[in-house]
Amino acid sequence: MKRMPLCLAPAATLAALLVTTPASAQGGKAGVERLYILNCGEGVAGDISRWSPGVNVGKSMDFVDSCYLIKHPQGWLLWDTGVADAIAAMPEGQRPADPRMTHWRRPKTLAAQLDQLGLKPADIKYVAISHTHPDHIGNVTMFPQSMLLVQRAEYEWPSPVGPRFRPDHPVTKLEGDHDVFGDGSVVIISTPGHTPGHQSLLVKLPKTGTVLLSGDAVHFKDNWENRRVPENNDNKDKSAISMQRMADVMAKENAQLWINHDKAQRDGQKISPEFYE
Ligand SMILES: [Zn+2]
Repeated sequence: MKRMPLCLAPAATLAALLVTTPASAQGGKAGVERLYILNCGEGVAGDISRWSPGVNVGKSMDFVDSCYLIKHPQGWLLWDTGVADAIAAMPEGQRPADPRMTHWRRPKTLAAQLDQLGLKPADIKYVAISHTHPDHIGNVTMFPQSMLLVQRAEYEWPSPVGPRFRPDHPVTKLEGDHDVFGDGSVVIISTPGHTPGHQSLLVKLPKTGTVLLSGDAVHFKDNWENRRVPENNDNKDKSAISMQRMADVMAKENAQLWINHDKAQRDGQKISPEFYE
């Protein structure tokens, strides 16, 4: 019974956020117009039991690293920035210090993919990041004018790898769920555990339906279905609670789960310049 308040409090907050304000009440258009999936890295994970202690020991797997670009009448939002564009210039990519981790390559830069869509970094109003690991914040400094949307707990987390944000980068430090455009179409869902301020993103697409972008609350489908918690997660209990919360949100919103690093899933998806509506 002790866990109930933990589960119920955020759900109640979300319920309040998901009451959609009619577009007419805002004096303008509302809702997401398009979502692009960008290639923000490809890699090979040396040993996927890092993400499932005791299971699949020694097994290697191909990973992808996805960024998502969302077009809304109030502005563009970029969800995650992938591994650094500089890795594209490394002939063999970036080898991890620990061979069990992921060896990343960058077949295309983020800058080139924005350019292909006729966009400049200054056109991006919001950069929201799932968490501050290097494969998600590799290009944050490309967007010095964009408002960062990050949980306060993540922003203030003392990272072992040094500063992750420039102190002068505009930032909104969030404390829980956040309805980005005020119309319920793009809602940040607080899912701590992988890191202290990890977050996921609920996106309501007009034709595709509702999708939940996982961040690294889970890394691939098999681990989601078995609710496995990676060995290096900051908090294992919170990780499990967040996965259950995601499942509850998905059931309530009839949402699909799009898993950031799941190559098998992404191989079946449309990649920019194709898009989802
Ligand atoms: Zn990651």
